[in-house]
Amino acid sequence: MIIDSHCHIDFKDFDHDRTQVINRAASANIKKIIVPGVMKNTWKNIKSCCDEFSGLYPCYGLHPYFISNHLPLHLKNLKTWIDKNKPVAVGECGLDFFIKNLDINLQSFYFEQQLDIALEFNLPVVTHARKSTEAVIKAIKKRPGLRGMIHSYSGSYEQALQLIKLGFYLSFGGPVTYEKSTRLRKLVQKLPLEYILVETDAPDQPVANANNKRNEPLFILDVIHSIADLHNTNNEHIEKITSKNTSELFNL
Ligand SMILES: [Zn+2]
Repeated sequence: MIIDSHCHIDFKDFDHDRTQVINRAASANIKKIIVPGVMKNTWKNIKSCCDEFSGLYPCYGLHPYFISNHLPLHLKNLKTWIDKNKPVAVGECGLDFFIKNLDINLQSFYFEQQLDIALEFNLPVVTHARKSTEAVIKAIKKRPGLRGMIHSYSGSYEQALQLIKLGFYLSFGGPVTYEKSTRLRKLVQKLPLEYILVETDAPDQPVANANNKRNEPLFILDVIHSIADLHNTNNEHIEKITSKNTSELFNL
C-alpha cells in the first residue's frame, strides 16, 4: 500500500473530478491520503471529504500563506474543533520566509501556538518550512516530546539529522523527481529511509513528467520511483517503508 502523506484534495481544483482522482489513486494502490487544513473556513469541507471517502485522514491548522485570513480567535476555534473531530494531526502550520510580505512575528505567533496545541492534544504536527528550517528547529527544540513531519523538506542534511533526532520525519514530493534538483536528490540519497515520507502536495508541486499540469495523488508513483533510484532499491521497498513510517506517525 502507498500513502500520500500530504495532499490538498479538498482544494477547489478537485471539485469537478475528486471522485475520479481518488479512484485513480486507489487503483494504483494509493489507499490512504493525509489531508492538511490551511485555514479555518476549510476545516468543515475537509471533514466532509474525509467522511465521504474512506482512506482520507484530516488534519486541521492555520497555514502561514493565509495569515491575513487568520484571527487569534481561530486558535481557540482550532482547539474546540480538534477536540470534537479528532484529526490525525495539527496542521498545516509553519513558517515561510520565502514570501516577503508575510509578517514574520505574526507567523511565529500562529506557528508556536499550534505547536502547543499539538502537544496538548498529543498529536503530531504537519509543518511547512520554507527558507525557515533553522527557526522551525528552534521552535521544536523548545517543546520536548513534540512529534511531526516537515512537508516538502528543503533544508540541509545537518538540519535533517537534527530534526530526526527531535522526533520528526521528512517528507518529499515532486521536486525530487527533477534531475536539476541535485542538492535535494543528494540529500535524499544520504537520508535513512526510516525517516522519509512521500507526498504529492497536490494540486501543487507537479512531478517532472507532468510539468505544468495539475498534480494529483497518482503521480506519487514518480516520487517513489525517484527515491528508489536514489537508494538503489525497488519501488516496493520504498512503498512499504514509507507507508510504515506514515502509519506510525499519524497512528493510522
Ligand atoms: Zn501543503
